[in-house]
Amino acid sequence: MEKKFVYSFNEGSKDMRALLGGKGANLAEMTKSGMPVPFGFTVTTDACKQYYADGGKIDDSIIEEIKAHQDELESVMGKKLGDPEDPLLVSVRSGAPISMPGMMDTVLNLGLNDETVVALAKQTDNERFAYDSYRRFLQMFGDVVMEVPMKQFNEIFDGKKAEVGAEFDVDLKTEDLKDIIEGYKKLYVKVLGREFPQDPQEQLMEAIKAVFRSWGNDRAILYRKLNDIPEDLGTAVNVQSMVFGNKGNDSGTGVAFTRNPATGENVLYGEFLVNAQGEDVVAGIRTPKKISEMAETFPEVYAQFKEIASKLEQHYTDMQDMEFTVENGKLFMLQTRNGKRTAEAAVNIAVDMVNEGLIDKKTAVLRIEPDFVEHLLHPRFDADEEAAATPIAHGLNASPGAACGKICFSADEAAAAAEAGEKAILVRTETSPEDLAGMVAAQGILTAHGGATSHAAVVARGMGKCCVTGCSALKISEEQKTLEVGGKVYGPDDYISVDGTTGDVYSGLLKLVPPDISGNFDTIMSWADELRTMKVRTNADTPRDAKQAIEFGAEGIGLCRTEHMFFEEERIPAIREMIIADTEEARRKALAKLLPFQKSDFKAMYKTMGDRPMTVRLLDPPLHEFLPKTPEEVKQLSESSGVSVEKIEAEAAKLKEFNPMLGHRGCRLAVSYPEIAEMQTEAIITAALEVIDEEGIEIVPEIMIPLVGSKNELANVKKTVVDTINRCFEKAGKKIDYLVGTMIEIPRAALTADEIAEEAEFFSFGTNDLTQMTFGFSRDDTAELIRSYVDKGILESDPFKTIDQNGVGKLVENAVKLGKKTRPNIHLGICGEHGGDPKSIEFCNKVGLQYVSCSPYRVPVARLAAAQAAIKQEQK
Ligand code: PEP
Ligand code: MG
Repeated sequence: MEKKFVYSFNEGSKDMRALLGGKGANLAEMTKSGMPVPFGFTVTTDACKQYYADGGKIDDSIIEEIKAHQDELESVMGKKLGDPEDPLLVSVRSGAPISMPGMMDTVLNLGLNDETVVALAKQTDNERFAYDSYRRFLQMFGDVVMEVPMKQFNEIFDGKKAEVGAEFDVDLKTEDLKDIIEGYKKLYVKVLGREFPQDPQEQLMEAIKAVFRSWGNDRAILYRKLNDIPEDLGTAVNVQSMVFGNKGNDSGTGVAFTRNPATGENVLYGEFLVNAQGEDVVAGIRTPKKISEMAETFPEVYAQFKEIASKLEQHYTDMQDMEFTVENGKLFMLQTRNGKRTAEAAVNIAVDMVNEGLIDKKTAVLRIEPDFVEHLLHPRFDADEEAAATPIAHGLNASPGAACGKICFSADEAAAAAEAGEKAILVRTETSPEDLAGMVAAQGILTAHGGATSHAAVVARGMGKCCVTGCSALKISEEQKTLEVGGKVYGPDDYISVDGTTGDVYSGLLKLVPPDISGNFDTIMSWADELRTMKVRTNADTPRDAKQAIEFGAEGIGLCRTEHMFFEEERIPAIREMIIADTEEARRKALAKLLPFQKSDFKAMYKTMGDRPMTVRLLDPPLHEFLPKTPEEVKQLSESSGVSVEKIEAEAAKLKEFNPMLGHRGCRLAVSYPEIAEMQTEAIITAALEVIDEEGIEIVPEIMIPLVGSKNELANVKKTVVDTINRCFEKAGKKIDYLVGTMIEIPRAALTADEIAEEAEFFSFGTNDLTQMTFGFSRDDTAELIRSYVDKGILESDPFKTIDQNGVGKLVENAVKLGKKTRPNIHLGICGEHGGDPKSIEFCNKVGLQYVSCSPYRVPVARLAAAQAAIKQEQK
């Protein structure tokens, strides 16, 4: 059978998302379920791909198919496009397989022209409505399809309003609208050098092409990048007969969620506007009414809508985000999709739905975006400070959380502030998709206009970012960079605090405190813990971080970087003395000063960790990192050590390396200066022996040797470590179990992991260095280069964030196999940054690592991601 590029709404189903896009698939599903959906058809994502493959042209055979479906639509509706007596009007909307709200284009009222507008006026007996629809169409078609700047349409529109003294759009009379239409038509000729196309057939084909083109617009590309949406999916186009919410006071339009998308509360949540079209609600130009008020305005329609909403939620077993229109008292469903929600709502809805018997625990766990969970762990305002502060304004609590920062009046300012390391609050009259980059950069978003479903609210919730909208007391001038409220004027040098949970706005910076995580969050996390097979450890080297990580559910420490313990003020002189020592004796003297510090650090760590395992890594960075930097520090060191300034400078010069990350670091230090490894080992073992005695707990110290490239190198350092351990045991008259293992972070180590496993009892993959050395990308210098590679599509994502499965991942997989061949029960984990990245965690699960280790705040993310990985693997 020949490939089909166009489907009527009665031909598809919800399972055809890839081909029909989310919107098309769901419109088909609703049509199939007998719900009131205006009829139409969907041009598939394959047609979009073909359009691009053909260099921006719709193939003749696809045009034929579109025409055939147009015929069918016309016969179902009993109306024809362009019919001067009874014209069919359609909407043309994008719909990608993965929802990209507001990123692509839509054209409404298509089919209107100088003739059909007269028919529409006659038919509806509402001339004003007809001309208002026509002017909206001219504006949208001009903006979206012909790329005439919207600003120029607005100038004509606002000019007319000012001329006739109209306060609101609805105050414009039919004659005014007609004048505006003439103005718009002249604008077409001025900008494009041609007339506005009166032929509806041409309008339709041009609009379809424009939607295909909008897949490739900048904001859509940015959105896909931010949300990891593949570039090659393409968008479908839905052509649907129009229904009108602006036909009078028995008409209206709205957007609603089956549950509250900010909190998850199980109540119908949304907004509607009487006598308005869809974009009025989303654009946030008029402030809409709460959906519950519809019970008074349209009682019957409201009851029917509630029933449909509940049916849809049951059918999709997920919270739905719906668009509807009421035309002369009759309800039409225009869209349903799984609703975007805050992290808090996601957790509450998932747990509630399990309790309601709608979904099972695995589905609930799979529904939570792991990266989002981190938002739940992020700060809110200190309750006392917030109680004592007086809000300067109050708006809609569109997306929860708290944020404070410098007032930024444009996306560019917010991006620049973030670049400079400043916290920014993006303050706008309303946001539009062009503001996306600024919203990403800002800590929080505040708008004067717009409801809970406005662009700012939807996008902020999607990002899990704190947002307050509809704060109508604010007078914002983006040009003059002023925010006026309560008789006070704030400028770009002022700071504000925004509470997205309450909707309050404060001047100045309020103190932020971490949230407490309990209730449904705990429930979801406990389900995740039941379902995952990998353990989750943390990278921590202070008792404070370790404690925090345990609160977040860490089951051990996967990486304790001992060098961080050396940087503290009282230790640094001793480590510096050790480095500049030119005899072993002098070095040992300095190390003896460090031993008590290290030992007490490890004791504190063991006490914090209790029975949980802890991997301690021996000193890793190049020694010069510890050297005094300023002349003042050199002088101090000279005084404390008795070594002359000249000699210190000479030693420092000797330690200088051109490529320190590839130089004298890691196990190489312990090969050159075994006494450093001896001191550290003694501290680790004696601390364990003492804590075992003091606390009566079981401790199996895990000593990790970094940056190993060959078995012999590891064997050399391991001998130092084991000899030291034996001496400690002898001295204490007591033995305990311990493990000696290594990091796999040099490609050669991964390639010879079978040999290395002869010496190592465990491997911990140091994927930071492994990525650096596999790609040859300096981990400290290439952020910008990598960003440009990602932008150019050379790299799919930053390999320092998400593991490069094809390259670095292959080395990991290979090392796992080789390691197990030599030592079947070898313990395997990861401690590079990738240990907290959901996609990388899925990879770790697949290749058979037993644990991941990540920073404390990523621990809940990792627990959830590990559970999802296990569920997905099981479902394969
Ligand atoms: C690594 O290289 O992945 C690692 C965890 O070690 P560090 O980041 O300390 O070099
Ligand atoms: Mg490393």
